[in-house]
Amino acid sequence: MAGKLFFVPTPIGNLNDISPRIVETLKSVDFILAEDTRTSRNLLKHFNIEKPLLSYHKFNEHKTLENIIEKIEAGHSVAVISDAGTPGISDPGFMLSRECRRRGLTVETLPGPCALIPAIVNSGLPCERFCFEGFLPQKSGRKSRIEMIANEGRTTVLYESPLRLLKTLVAFSEICGQERQASVSREISKLHEETIRGTLGELIVHFTKNPPKGEIVIVLAGKPENDTPKIHKNKYKR
Ligand code: SAM
Repeated sequence: MAGKLFFVPTPIGNLNDISPRIVETLKSVDFILAEDTRTSRNLLKHFNIEKPLLSYHKFNEHKTLENIIEKIEAGHSVAVISDAGTPGISDPGFMLSRECRRRGLTVETLPGPCALIPAIVNSGLPCERFCFEGFLPQKSGRKSRIEMIANEGRTTVLYESPLRLLKTLVAFSEICGQERQASVSREISKLHEETIRGTLGELIVHFTKNPPKGEIVIVLAGKPENDTPKIHKNKYKR
C-alpha cells in the first residue's frame, strides 16, 4: 500500500505555537523533507524528534521529485517542513502536492502557523474575502503587479523584506494615493512583534523614521468603490 505525504507547518517565531498533532505527525513519519536541514534539526531536537532528514528546497525540488514519489509509492510516509510556517506558502511544496494529485497519492496538510493569517486578522482591514500575493516580483513584472493589486477591491496580503518595505510602500502610494489604508505586521509571535496601521502616507513617514527590522507582512486595503487609481506623484524618493 502507498504511504502518505504530510505538509506540516512549523512555528514562525514562538515555539509554543507548535501543536501536539504536529509533533505526533513528525514523530510518526519515516522521512522528513526539510528546506534547511540545520535549522530544522534544531527545531526537531527541541521536540525530541529523531528522523532521517532529506534536503528539499527551491533549488532541488525538481530533481528530488521522482525520488520522493517513489518513497511514498513504496509505502513510506513523508513529512515536508519549511524553515518556518506552512510549506507551499511562499515556500517549496506545490510541485510535490501536484505530483501526488496526478498519481492519486494521499496528501494531508496539517493546520498550523502561517504569517499571513495573523497579519490580516490583526490589520483591522476587511478579511472575510482577501487576496494573498506572496512576494512581489523584484524586477520584471513588478510595476504591473503593483498596478493590478492597487486595482483589487479586496484586501491584499504581501510578504516583504525589511530592506524593500519602504520602497514598496512608496510604489503603492504612487498608484493608490497616500490615503489608502494599510498595515504592516513585524516579527509576528516573537519578542518584538508589532503591527502599525494607518494610511500609506503615515506608514511611509513611520518607517522612514524607524527603519524596519525582522520579518514583515504588508496588508493593503482594497480599492474603494468609485476610486480611479492613477499615478500619484509624491514627495518620497525611492
Ligand atoms: N511559509 C511561510 C508562511 O507560512 O508564512 C512563509 C515563508 S516566506 C519564505 C518568509 C516570509 O514570510 C517572510 O519574509 C515574511 O514576509 C513572512 N513571515 C514569516 N514569519 C514571519 C513573522 N514571524 N512575522 C512576520 N512575517 C513573517
